[in-house]
Order: sequence, then C-alpha cells, then structure tokens
Amino acid sequence: MRDKLFINGEWVAPENNATFPVINPATEEVFHNAPAGSANDVDKAVKAASVAFKGPWSKTTGKERAVYLRKMADGMERDLRKLSELEVMDNGKPYPEAEWDIEDAIGCFRYYANLAEELDDKKENTELGDDRFKSEVRYSPIGVAALITPWNYPMLMASWKIAPAIAAGATCVLKPATVTPMTALEYGGYAQEADLPAGVLNIVTGLGSVIGDPLTQHKLVNKVAFTGSVPIGSRIMSMCAQDIKNVSLELGGKSPVIVFDDADIEGAVEWVMFGIFWNQGQVCSGTSRLLVQEGIRDKFLKRLKEETEKITIGDGMTEGTLLGPLVSAGQMRDVLSFIDHGIETGVTMLTGGRCDDFAKGYYVKPTIFVDPPLDDKLWTDEIFGPVLAVRSFGTEEEGIELANDSIFGLAAAIMSTDKDRCSRVADAMHAGIIWVNCSQPTFTEAPWGGYKQSGFGRELGRWGMYNYLETKQVTEFISPKPWGWYMK
Ligand code: NAD
Repeated sequence: MRDKLFINGEWVAPENNATFPVINPATEEVFHNAPAGSANDVDKAVKAASVAFKGPWSKTTGKERAVYLRKMADGMERDLRKLSELEVMDNGKPYPEAEWDIEDAIGCFRYYANLAEELDDKKENTELGDDRFKSEVRYSPIGVAALITPWNYPMLMASWKIAPAIAAGATCVLKPATVTPMTALEYGGYAQEADLPAGVLNIVTGLGSVIGDPLTQHKLVNKVAFTGSVPIGSRIMSMCAQDIKNVSLELGGKSPVIVFDDADIEGAVEWVMFGIFWNQGQVCSGTSRLLVQEGIRDKFLKRLKEETEKITIGDGMTEGTLLGPLVSAGQMRDVLSFIDHGIETGVTMLTGGRCDDFAKGYYVKPTIFVDPPLDDKLWTDEIFGPVLAVRSFGTEEEGIELANDSIFGLAAAIMSTDKDRCSRVADAMHAGIIWVNCSQPTFTEAPWGGYKQSGFGRELGRWGMYNYLETKQVTEFISPKPWGWYMK
C-alpha cells in the first residue's frame, strides 16, 4: 500500500513524515497510515505541475497523450481485482460495486484517449457577419489544474478529472478525499508505468482542512475542479474569486424520482431502490425524494417496503452483500441524526433505522420515511445515506412543482409508460441529469452536472475535456481593401 505522496514523477515522503490513519468501515480497524501532506507539499506539487506544463508537455499532440492514457488504463485493468478490493476496504461498498467503479474508471481513461486524438484535427471556422474577416476557433490546455475529489467513488471520481485533464494537455495536482486516499494514490504507479512525464500528475493526500486552502489559493493553479459538498464548494468558489480562477463545481443534490400512476410498478420499485440504496445512498445524484402519484401510492409503498426489507446488509467483501457500511463513523453519525430527527418529530418510518446486527462497522438500515412536512430537513436536505423520503401528488403539474421545489438541481427520474408525458416532464425538470424509467445509470459519453446549488460546469463527455481547455479565437483581416477608418 502506498505510503508516500506522488510529486514530480516520484514517491516522496510528506513533510515531517506525517501520516493519518485510514479505517476500514466494515471492521473499524486502522488498516494503513497514509501520507499526510502539508502546505509545503502542496507547493512542491503545484510547482512540479507548473514546470511540467511550461516544458514540452503542453506541446504534445493529442495522439501522444492518448498513448499515456491507454497505458494507464491497461495497468488498471490488469490490477482490477486488487484495486476493487482496496476500494472496498477504504470505502466499504460491496465488491461488485467497487469492481464496476474501477471498470468505469478504466473506460473513462480510454474514452478520453479517443477524445485527445480527435483534438489534434479539431479546427472550427466561425461564420462571421462580415466577409472582410475570417475566424477560427482553437483550443489550448488551461495550465495547472487542482483536482479535488470526494470519498463516495474514490477512484472513479478521480478518473473523471485526471483523464480529461491529461487528454486536454493540462497538468494536475489531485487531492483525494481525506477518508479514502488509497486507490487515488495508485494512479501514481500507473503514471510511472506509462512513463507519463514527471509533474503531469501529482497526488497529495491529507486533511482537506490543511491542504485544501493552500491548493485552491496557489497562484500557479489556473483551474480548480471540485466535487464535494455545497459548503466546501462555496468556500472554494469564494477563494477562486480572489484571483479570478477558473472553477467548476460538482456539488450535492436532493433529487426527485416521480412515479406516475401509469408506471410499471415492479420496474419502478427496483429503480427507486437502486436510486437511493446503491452505494449506501452516498450518491450525489441519488434520487432521495420519492414522489408517488396518489392512485398507486398504497400498492407502491407496500411493494417498496417488501423489497427494501430483503436487502442483504454486510461487509462489502461478503458475497451477496447489497448494502455495506457507510464510509466513516462521522458519516454514520450524520445519517443517524436525520433518522433520529424523523423518529423524534413523529414522521412515519415505513422501514429501516439503526442497524444493531453487527458488533463492528458503520451500518445503517435502508430507511424510508413517509410524508415528512415540506419544510422538514428529511425532505429538503442532502442526507447522503440510505434514507428515502416519500410524499405523494395528484396532478402532473403538482408533481413537477414539488419535484422542482429544491435548492438543488442535479438529477431527476421519471417513471411512466406514457412517452409523451416522460418527454414533457423531462423538459420541465430543473436538473442537469434526467433519467426516464431508470435512475442512476451513468455513461462516460454524456454530460454530468447540475443546476442551482448542485454546481456548474459539466464533467464527462466532450464537456469534461473542455473544462481543461481554453477557447481562443484567431481572427484575420482578409479584405484586399484597406480598413479605411482613419485613412480614407
Ligand atoms: P466534502 O465537501 O466534505 O469534501 C470534498 C473534498 O474537498 C475532499 O477531498 C475534502 O478533503 C476536500 N476539502 C475539505 N476542505 C477543503 C478546503 N477547505 N478546500 C479545498 N478542499 C477541501 O465532500 P465529501 O463529504 O467528500 O463528499 C460528499 C459530497 O460530495 C456530497 O455533498 C455529494 O453530493 C458531493 N458529490 C457530488 C458529486 C457530483 O458529481 N455532483 C459526486 C460525488 C459527490
């Protein structure tokens, strides 16, 4: 297991050899002491990235960069089992979910390898309303990017940033979430194996409260790509405002799933469960607010309760586990405080609650609350755990209004067999990701990001690469006649 930071192509001990404990959420045991970077370590990493950017790296072709990306993907693919096991140990998620994440991360590297190649031939002419000029659009890498990632999909969320940044020709410093540093550090090994030039990718693990600010505020950082909570996103945005740094924010959500009377009930029940219990509900796009139309409410909730109570809870490495522990003691405490609040204030708990089935581990049962008041935090706040809040609605208009009534706008899901209705409601949703008759499937090719307090900017697809590119116009005066403003 990695015990050093990855700076300038080498494994480097953190200042004062500082470490912090990494805990397995299923056993509560410390399984590693990870390197705790300092502000000085951040400075070294950013300087390495800056020197690399000013060197030959920013002149590489997309085809050259694609080779590095594919080699990194090959290394990860060879180590799929090892990486998936490490992810389970670090994050707690069930092994099949971890393996899916790593496969997606590998796919992400290969996808951006293709996009890097396409960038070489990219020439866009812009039609101007004046034939005395012609204009071309070109793209150039943005410089040094600070990549700050959360703990819910540690290796995958890092891939969404590292791969497009490298594809674009930027250089980067990755700061993974404090509680899940292990698989992110592994990227350093794959960079070395692929002979990625020194300084293109640097990785500094440690406490967000210690290294987050120095990284965001560093004068040599040109771009901050952040995925995480609204409070930290807001803090980062205000720090970036000081020197007008380019920033993109992928933040939280409280996304609705609307189930209409005409939905396929069995199919919808499964997608509603997947939308909130997958990854223990620690999913930014999790559809944690269920809106079920009055006509099927009782039948739907009966089936939802039956199926939810069948979910097997356990250690992520135990075969058959569908719900593992939450990522940390702190996260379990936060989620339980919502559940306690619901119980104490008399909101009906259909199923779930605390989980006393295990001597160790941060387990919470899949939990469903019915009819919390509209202004109750069970209905309005991101819980980031396996907790679903349910309300019902009458008309389509009412459903849309309730669904959009949130400070967030990351995702929404619609369950109906009426295609016209699905299309109509998708248009009406104030969210960046709309799922129809499903919830959560995510594809590298499609744009990802939110409206409102869920952030701005888009990851994945070509949009993900444009996060790390500057757009430039080159406009040429081509008229044979003189300009003739001063000199008639
Ligand atoms: P968080 O905001 O606590 O931490 C995110 C990252 O910021 C971590 O790496 C953390 O160490 C770092 N950080 C902490 N203090 C910092 C500072 N002062 N400056 C810079 N960085 C700092 O979020 P989390 O608990 O790791 O993740 C959960 C949140 O992430 C949820 O709100 C979830 O919705 C959101 N999320 C969003 C998406 C998306 O694509 N929209 C994806 C995954 C998670």
